[in-house]
Amino acid sequence: MAYTLAPLPYDYAALEPFIDVETMHLHHDKHHQAYVNNLNAAVEPYPELAAKSVDDLIRDLSAVPEAIRTVVRNNGGGHANHSIFWNLMGPAGTAGIGGAPTGAIADQIAKDFGDFEAFKKTFNETTAKQFGSGWGWLVFEGGKLKVTTSANQDSPLSQGLYPILGNDVWEHAYYLKYQNRRPEYLAAWWSVVNWAEVNKRFAVAKG
Ligand code: MN
Repeated sequence: MAYTLAPLPYDYAALEPFIDVETMHLHHDKHHQAYVNNLNAAVEPYPELAAKSVDDLIRDLSAVPEAIRTVVRNNGGGHANHSIFWNLMGPAGTAGIGGAPTGAIADQIAKDFGDFEAFKKTFNETTAKQFGSGWGWLVFEGGKLKVTTSANQDSPLSQGLYPILGNDVWEHAYYLKYQNRRPEYLAAWWSVVNWAEVNKRFAVAKG
C-alpha cells in the first residue's frame, strides 16, 4: 500500500486529561486510518501519484485526475493534516510541552501578535468560528505569522503555504469530552502543544 498510518509518537493516554484516551483511539485508529484507506483505494490505479509523498500530492491537486481529485483532496488532506497534528502534541508537563512557546517561534509570536496570550486569543477565537468541520492553522506568509482556518480537510499546502501549527476542530476531535464546548477544547489544547515541533516546522516555513 502506498500510504501508511504511523503509530502515535506517545501513548494513547499521554494527552490526558486534556484529550481523553478514548478520543485518541477513535481519532487515530478509526478516523485517520479511514483517510489512509480511502486515499490508497483512490490512487491505486495511478502508480505515479501513489509514488508521491502525501504532502506533494495535495500541494498540486491540479496534477490529480479529476475523477479522484475530490477524494484525494479530502482523504489525502485528512492523512496529511492528522500526520502533522499528532506530532504537534505531547504529554503535558514534560519538557517543551505546553506552557509558553520557546525559541524562534516565541520571538516571531511576540513580534506579530504582541505576546503569547494575544496570539492564543486570536487563534482560539478565529478557530472557534470555523463553521462545521475544519482546522485552525498558523502559517507564515509575507514575512508574518497568520492565523487561518480551512474547511473539511483542506490543507494550507494546497494554497502554497506550510502549516506551522494546526488544531483539528472536527467534532470527532473533542466531542466525547467537551461535547459542544469547542472553545473549552481550544483553550485546553495549548497544554499539549509541542513547541520543539512547532519550531521545527517554523524553520521549514521560513525557508
Ligand atoms: Mn480529525
